[in-house]
Amino acid sequence: MDRAGGAELPLVALEPRRIVTAARTDPGRVRDGNQDYCAEFERGGTTRLLVVADGMGGHAKGDVASRVAVETIGEAFQSGSANPEDLLREAFSAANARVHVMGAEDPLGMGTTAVALLLQPEGAWVAHVGDSRAYRWRNGSMTRLTEDHSWVFQEVAHGRMTPAEAATHPRRNALLRSIGTEDDLPADVRAVELLPGDRVLLCSDGLWDELDEATLGDALGAGEPAECVGRLIELANRAGGHDNVTAAVARVPEVGQPRRHRVAWIAIAMAMVLAGVARWCGT
Ligand code: CA
Repeated sequence: MDRAGGAELPLVALEPRRIVTAARTDPGRVRDGNQDYCAEFERGGTTRLLVVADGMGGHAKGDVASRVAVETIGEAFQSGSANPEDLLREAFSAANARVHVMGAEDPLGMGTTAVALLLQPEGAWVAHVGDSRAYRWRNGSMTRLTEDHSWVFQEVAHGRMTPAEAATHPRRNALLRSIGTEDDLPADVRAVELLPGDRVLLCSDGLWDELDEATLGDALGAGEPAECVGRLIELANRAGGHDNVTAAVARVPEVGQPRRHRVAWIAIAMAMVLAGVARWCGT
């Protein structure tokens, strides 16, 4: 796994406009409502932001918390710092402040996770708080880009629990950090290298808790992002759909796609010229 919160440099420039994205949320098969929320934002035609949030179970108005957090992150993105890491930290802090104030008026408080993917011409960055995750798919292999801010993740990291025990532990949903529950919020922000053909998945625990990483990778690696999110949600629901399910997918185009298109257009243009010459010669 890559080092979360580290300094992996965005060495490869991107063309965000050419990146294909899709995002969808689903209540699952057990819950009446949906406390997850997702959205995509765009700025200046060159910068894009995908966000997934999961209102915390056990908290009142988790659906409000996730929606307000995503919308606040989107608003801050529109007018924030030029530096991408500062931008994401400021956006998450703004979301935290707003949800925290709203939660102060509620006896049970409010909270939400959030994970965001920022796509700029200079590269890509991921920010997160809580246990909503980001994965990168590359040539069939999955790399997790986030470390859950959860009690079981901490126990596994300290060797006090195995990943298998964590996966079924009754406290596996207990978060150590979330938007809205404290008055200060350090979000984890990292640069992520994205190469042509790579795909990124943002998801709530309703997806990754239901499907193993190999299944996530298989579903993520085939077809366009809209098909991927539909397939992922269908698989989570077939596996039980015990929680709300959200998936957002970004696909970086393969190198050569535009070139193939250019070659096709040149061939068509040459054929038209030749047809014109043939007609002229025939007259
Ligand atoms: Ca959830």
